[in-house]
Amino acid sequence: DRLKQGLTKAKQGITDRIDEVLKAYTKVDEELLEDLEEVLITADVGVNTTMDIIEKLEDVIRTKKITDPQDVREELKLIIEDILSKDDTKLDVSHSPTIILMVGVNGVGKTTTIGKLAHRYKSEGKKVLLAAGDTFRAAAIDQLEVWANRCNVDIIKHQEGADPGAVIFDAIKASKARGVDVLICDTAGRLHNKSNLMNELGKVFKIVDREYPEAKKEVLLVVDATTGQNAVSQAKSFKEVCDITGLALTKLDGTAKGGVILAVKSEVDVPVKLIGVGEKMEDLQDFDSKSFVDALFS
Ligand code: GDP
Repeated sequence: DRLKQGLTKAKQGITDRIDEVLKAYTKVDEELLEDLEEVLITADVGVNTTMDIIEKLEDVIRTKKITDPQDVREELKLIIEDILSKDDTKLDVSHSPTIILMVGVNGVGKTTTIGKLAHRYKSEGKKVLLAAGDTFRAAAIDQLEVWANRCNVDIIKHQEGADPGAVIFDAIKASKARGVDVLICDTAGRLHNKSNLMNELGKVFKIVDREYPEAKKEVLLVVDATTGQNAVSQAKSFKEVCDITGLALTKLDGTAKGGVILAVKSEVDVPVKLIGVGEKMEDLQDFDSKSFVDALFS
């Protein structure tokens, strides 16, 4: 299936290398654990999360008196699944109207993710509207329009340089008039400094709270898995300036270092709701820890 296919590189970078280590040993010792530690760190799991995993593994090896390296695989899988399943929450747009504010720095796959979501909800028979709230780049507006046309959904846009708040205001007005179920808003992706970002997003958030209290609000932060630990630090920065309700981790198909999802899960206290495993419309998936770990360890 697509998930398994999308995780091919991650499997090579994580699971295949774990298996190589386990095969190289006849008994479970300190050296084996050190080798596993290196695999995890190389796969962008991050130092803290890796230490945590190895500690848990040591504990379980001791309590279950595990001596066969092959038995370590299942324990490691369980520990990873345990980390990933914490706060497993799906993106829920069953409330109508729902407004989804997409935040994240440029290039992470924000527009693509908006397009994929629009396609998904439109296919489900929902009335979808897009708002081109990133007015700083003409290209961002154009690209969002390409997706709107592709998915056959309406878009509210102003000219480059316009006030993002005004775009969102108009989009809310249009949503009410047209009976929109899901309004998906792009926002500016420049992260010059925190106060600057806080200012820009703050204005948009205030308008949403004031003008659209009947809507369920989702704030999705999009981060790029191929940027490794940068994805973790971006998530931490955005969390400081706005209330993120979920993460979309894109481009997992493009990296052998898919371990970043573990770092994100354990170091950022926000549920991963979506994962991107390819460029096609159907490559945006709800994150489900069990299927994810099963695909990775298959
Ligand atoms: P934005 O600047 O954040 O809006 O980023 P875009 O949506 O324009 O995406 C940047 C690039 O990443 C584009 O070439 C997308 O096709 C690509 N992209 C986005 N999501 C994924 C994904 O899950 N997998 C892969 N392989 N590419 C993706």
